[in-house]
Amino acid sequence: MSKYIFVTGGVVSSVGKGITVASIGTILKSRQITVSVQKLDPYLNVDPGTMSPYQHGEVFVTQDGAETDLDLGNYERFIDVNLTAESNATSGQVYSAVIAKERRGDFLGGTIQVVPHVTTEIKERFKQLAQKSQAEVIIIEVGGTVGDIEGQPFLEAIRQMRNDVGRGNVLYVHVTLLPYLTSTQELKTKPTQHSVNELRRIGIQPDIIICRSDQPISEGIRDKISLFCDVEREAVISLPTVSTIYEVPLILEESGLGQLVVDKLGLTARLADLSQWQELVTRLKTPREPVNIALVGKYVELKDAYFSVREALQHAALYHTRDVNLIWVHSEDLEGDGSEAPLHTAQGIIVPGGFGIRGIEGMIKAANYARNNEIPYLGLCLGMHVMVIEFARYVLGLTEANSTEFDVSTPYPVIDLLPEQKETENMGGTMRLGNYPCQLVQGSLAAKAYGQSLVYERHRHRFEFNNQFRTQLQEAGMVYSGLSPDGKLVELCELANHPWMASCQFHPEFGSRPSHPHPLFRDFIDVAKNILREGAQPPLPLSS
Ligand code: GLN
Repeated sequence: MSKYIFVTGGVVSSVGKGITVASIGTILKSRQITVSVQKLDPYLNVDPGTMSPYQHGEVFVTQDGAETDLDLGNYERFIDVNLTAESNATSGQVYSAVIAKERRGDFLGGTIQVVPHVTTEIKERFKQLAQKSQAEVIIIEVGGTVGDIEGQPFLEAIRQMRNDVGRGNVLYVHVTLLPYLTSTQELKTKPTQHSVNELRRIGIQPDIIICRSDQPISEGIRDKISLFCDVEREAVISLPTVSTIYEVPLILEESGLGQLVVDKLGLTARLADLSQWQELVTRLKTPREPVNIALVGKYVELKDAYFSVREALQHAALYHTRDVNLIWVHSEDLEGDGSEAPLHTAQGIIVPGGFGIRGIEGMIKAANYARNNEIPYLGLCLGMHVMVIEFARYVLGLTEANSTEFDVSTPYPVIDLLPEQKETENMGGTMRLGNYPCQLVQGSLAAKAYGQSLVYERHRHRFEFNNQFRTQLQEAGMVYSGLSPDGKLVELCELANHPWMASCQFHPEFGSRPSHPHPLFRDFIDVAKNILREGAQPPLPLSS
């Protein structure tokens, strides 16, 4: 039977609860303990797929096609697992399921209530994941902070679990923030005390408190939290802010968290082996020469909107012992008379995914700049649409070429809806989602990058390359380097007369891991790192 670790957050959000959960997974996995992870999101949307990136940050897509919280990306990257739809549960899903059962008559005669019906449905989801994954430990992160109205049914459900599965099989971890007061130069514990009080009020006594702060906590602070919150001294864990998120598992391990969890849950475990992780962090912390990459998107004010893209670039750069210097370019700023200057120092340009017309012309301008100046370009989903439109307009002279997403009456719809998407009425969960096969074409940049002939990649889009234009674009120099196995869908395209301009219809960023960068990102950075840009000095010969 699986054991459960429930992780709640206190004081404020955005203190790195997701990274903490991912790191707990890493340190358990390093002891050969099998783990699976679940994120509970208290909002009423069924999934984040219909939310703006400004509201939610990136939407992470699992292999089985679920649109999920970006924390799942961190879980996958840290624990090196491929998660499934069961790893993200929202209030929207829970309430829809309960109401569907009520309509079916499953509860005939009864009054449907938050306790027990909603809480039972929530607990069902914990158990389903345990059943499906067969993991020894299931780590469950409750989204939001303790005290949020929406989070209450989830907290009540996790409280009930201790009785349901036995006290020795459940652990409550509370991640909290200790604010620092510059005037008195001290970390304050009062907000943590309040947040633990709030947890206790609903019947949850945390077993472990992880204290996020800008500096390590002192012994005095540890004693105080231990005393006021009734948690053993060694279960008050200090997690200071670090320069790379990948260091968090090492800090938690060093502070004894791994052993503590093993002891408290009575797990049988091997000795922790975090040597590879240690090596990764050492490499990440070693100064490396930067590669300038311009990320041209429309949500650039909110960096979390491109979380996986950023990570994938970082992984690829590390592979080449380089660092990524991201130049965030707001695509709207390139439009009209907008200057291309932000692109001048870029050694590579990446246009990531996105939806809607805003900023599209700026992205097309960036693709045009990359093509004309032979700057490496990687287009991800929307970035591929943009590359195709640019090529049709400026190489073939089809000046009004567009995607029907942005201009329904364009005479040259080089990107269009698939016939089955034309019938779709609902917006939620109806895109082409999750893993689809892609057959690579020998001799292409993509085939060289992957070193395989068939790959599976994660999708999230409605619009596709329009086959009516295939021959015309091909004759002008576009190469279709990846196709669906039936040959009907263009999955990857690249340019014949360019050092490295390639785009994919899927999202390779979701599959990148710190120790295995995604092949497309890896080769993109490989070419970009050798591009000499404005203001840069050629390397001096070391000896004559
Ligand atoms: N908006 C485009 C589509 O729906 C691209 C989506 C994306 O970039 N994920 O097809």
